[in-house]
Amino acid sequence: MMADKEANSEEDEVFWADRLAESIISRNKFHYLDKKVEQPKEFVVKTSASISGVLHIGRLSDTIRGFTVYRALKDQGVKARIIWVAEDMDPLRKIPEGVPKEFEKYLGMPVTDIPDPKGCHQTYAAHHIAEYFQSLDNFVFTKLEKFSMREEYLKGSFNQMIKALLENEEQVREIQNRYRTNPLKKGWSPWSPICEKCGKVATPKVTEFKDGKIHYVCKDYYFETTMAAGCNFHGEADPFSGNGKLMWKSEWAAQWLRWNICTEGAGKEYQVPNSAFWINAEIAEKVLSYPMPQPIFYEHLMIDGVKMSASLGNVIYPKDWLEVARPELLCYFYNKRLMKTRNFSWKDLPNLYEDYDHCARIYAGSEKLDNEKELQHMKRLFVLSHKQDEVSEPLEMSFSHAVLLSQVFQEEQEIIASLKKTGHYQPELHAEIKDRLAKALFWVKHHAPDEYKIEVQHSIPKDIVLSDKQKEALRQIVKAVKEKEWDEKSLHNEFYEIAKKLDMPPAELFKAGYRVLLNKERGPKLAHFMLALGDRSIKILEKV
Ligand SMILES: [Zn+2]
Ligand SMILES: [Zn+2]
Repeated sequence: MMADKEANSEEDEVFWADRLAESIISRNKFHYLDKKVEQPKEFVVKTSASISGVLHIGRLSDTIRGFTVYRALKDQGVKARIIWVAEDMDPLRKIPEGVPKEFEKYLGMPVTDIPDPKGCHQTYAAHHIAEYFQSLDNFVFTKLEKFSMREEYLKGSFNQMIKALLENEEQVREIQNRYRTNPLKKGWSPWSPICEKCGKVATPKVTEFKDGKIHYVCKDYYFETTMAAGCNFHGEADPFSGNGKLMWKSEWAAQWLRWNICTEGAGKEYQVPNSAFWINAEIAEKVLSYPMPQPIFYEHLMIDGVKMSASLGNVIYPKDWLEVARPELLCYFYNKRLMKTRNFSWKDLPNLYEDYDHCARIYAGSEKLDNEKELQHMKRLFVLSHKQDEVSEPLEMSFSHAVLLSQVFQEEQEIIASLKKTGHYQPELHAEIKDRLAKALFWVKHHAPDEYKIEVQHSIPKDIVLSDKQKEALRQIVKAVKEKEWDEKSLHNEFYEIAKKLDMPPAELFKAGYRVLLNKERGPKLAHFMLALGDRSIKILEKV
């Protein structure tokens, strides 16, 4: 068990996915049994999503990280494959926002068997899967092989596993009971039918397994906050009919065997020994004779320190992300760390960009890093967050700079002129510059804190009160700027010189500049801002 911990450790400078890939390939023994593991011909990574909930960017973490491990495996020279499984046998647990209330009657039914509330697809599941893939394909740079659990059951893909699990029902129970306060009793079954009468999968309660048939009665089933009403039907079902499903603490193990899974992501809550992951791992090895996959335990995404939820109104959808950042930035964000808490906040987006740009410069070699191990680590992080053939040159124009320019100028030409003047224009990256400007403007309009919002004044704000020293400082700034061409650093130093000469605190000088130019007490770095603004800043300051 500890071997897995090590593989997930971030102490090592080797990039986590490479380390994990290494440990997946070099594994040679079962975890619970003294048994040799045969090297698979192909290393299969599984990623999945439940279709019954909200698809927010947190859901993408499993797939993005799984995809990164898949690429790391391939980079080690082995054959690898990644599959995506729709957990669409899951029952509908509650009515999501925007779904009519009368859908309450479908609570407890598999999402594949419920109509599409929007009416544009065959089923509820089909609608959500289509929507999911529309965004997912932006974040994963390959076409994922997709499977549906509902279809797999109907095809009989799980019959072999259902047979083994039913035959060894006692052992499956024993493994589970070690972690239960309420032990499962004889007569329990790892397979549960869909009620023949009402079509629900959550409500049938198995009473007996006899002569190859599962006997059940359809009873009310309570989810966390909702209830699926049972129809009281007494029925019997054939476990090989395809019309039912395995319990989660058996099903996961069956999936691993079904697709020969070597590794799969799971939230960090699955690390504890009594979690469904380890129970399935033991069932996989002892009952199904299949070696447990290497887990990719990861930390969940938090938004401003709290979980994303529709009721808190802090859900970020993939399409929201794409309005303000390229998919690579989210891949970078997720790939950066596996286990440290990943917190995101709209207000921190400029920092993420800065971090990303820094990594881009290191990758391109335009910024040096002396520590060789750290350098290799960052290069791996960067390249694995991009399509292999699409790692572009780093942009000179930072996101914060784009935020500023997109608010100050209306016309593209003005922006380009400003960028040329400040030495941030890269003609070969014109399209990328435009893209970043548009995203910056969207961010500032919809997500930015006030300090990023600016409005350049056309005349001196009315209620402004400046001291004589402040006025004199502004006059000297105008004079200096007119005299020669400045770069940001030397102009910034010049401001300090002027303040020193006038025997005033530099803060007073800056405040005066912001008051006149922006009618605010603070703003972006004054030298940077004035240079970006060009003549316009002088025209206003001259009026003081
Ligand atoms: Zn639809
Ligand atoms: Zn029923």
